[in-house]
Amino acid sequence: MKPTFQKDDALLADIARARSEGRARLWWLGQSGFLLHTPAGTVLFDPYLSDSLTTKYAGTDKPHTRVTERVIAPERLTGIDVITSSHNHTDHLDAETLLPLLATNPQAKLVIPRANRDFVLERLGREFPLTPTLSPSEGEREKHRQAAGKTSGAGNVVDRASLSPLPRRGGEGQGEVNARLNGCQLVELDEGESASVAGVEFHGIPAAHNTVERDEQGRCRFLGYVARVGGKTIYHSGDTLMHDGLVPALARFAPDVALVPINGNRPERRVAGNLNGREAAGLARAIGARLAVPHHFDLFAFNTEPPDEFEAACHALGQPFRTLQNGEGVDL
Ligand SMILES: [Zn+2]
Repeated sequence: MKPTFQKDDALLADIARARSEGRARLWWLGQSGFLLHTPAGTVLFDPYLSDSLTTKYAGTDKPHTRVTERVIAPERLTGIDVITSSHNHTDHLDAETLLPLLATNPQAKLVIPRANRDFVLERLGREFPLTPTLSPSEGEREKHRQAAGKTSGAGNVVDRASLSPLPRRGGEGQGEVNARLNGCQLVELDEGESASVAGVEFHGIPAAHNTVERDEQGRCRFLGYVARVGGKTIYHSGDTLMHDGLVPALARFAPDVALVPINGNRPERRVAGNLNGREAAGLARAIGARLAVPHHFDLFAFNTEPPDEFEAACHALGQPFRTLQNGEGVDL
C-alpha cells in the first residue's frame, strides 16, 4: 500500500502549526477529501476516512482495494466549521466518517445538495436510529433559527439555502454521541444558490456524474461547491464530467484553487466517471484558476489513474498546478 506524505500525529502537528501561525493552508486527505484552514474558517470537503467501501465490497466482483493508507481517523480532526458532501456516493457521504466527525465537531455544519436531504438523513440515521422523544429543546431551535437568519448570501445569487437541525439520535450506549450530534445542522444548497455558513460563503455548482441528474423537483443530485473564506476562493468539483453549464457557472469566481478529479470515465469500471487528467487541466484553465490540484485517485485500485496526463496537460496549457500526496498540504 502507498504510504501517505504524512499522517496521524504528523498531520495534526502540521495543521496546528498553520493555525497558530495564521496561515491559509490546504491538505489532501485522500480521494476527494480536502481540509482547508484559514484564519476565518475551516472547511472539510467530502471526507472519506474509513474503510467502509472496502468492507462493503469485500468478496464481490467489484472489490474496493485500498491503494493508499488512511491519513487520519475522522474523530481526531477538530476545529471544523463546515463539512461538505457533494453527492450521495459513499466516497463523498460516508457515515463511518461523518458520524465520528460530527460527534467531535458539534459546531460543524454539513453542506449537502438540497435534493439529497432525505437520503443524507437516512444514511446518517441508520447508524443512530431516530428517537423522536428527544427532539431539540426550544432554546436549540431558537439558536438554529438565528443561525438560519444569518445565511443570506450576497450579490446576484439566489439565496434559498436553509438550515435544518439533524434529528436527535438514540441507541444503546450512544447517549453522549447523540447529545453532541443534536447540535449539528444541515445546510442545503442547489445549483445557483449560495449561503454564508460559519463565515464561509458557499455556492452550488451543477456537476455531471455522469449527467446533470435532477430530482422530480428539478434539483441537482450532484454538485460542486465554490467556497470563499478568508479572502480565498476554492472550487471543489465534487465528481463531474464536463457539461455545458459548468464553465459558465464558474466563470465569475476566478478561483485561487480548483480541486479537479482526474480518474476519468471508463465504462468497464461500472461506476460513474469523472474528468480525465487532460479535461481536468482544461477546466482549471478555462475558469482562470490560479492553481489546479488533482483528486479522486490513489484510493481504490479499480478506479484510479496516475496524475501524469493531468500534469502534462497543465504544462501544455500553462496552467499552474500542484499534485499533492495524501496528507500533504500547500499554503495558499
Ligand atoms: Zn467519487
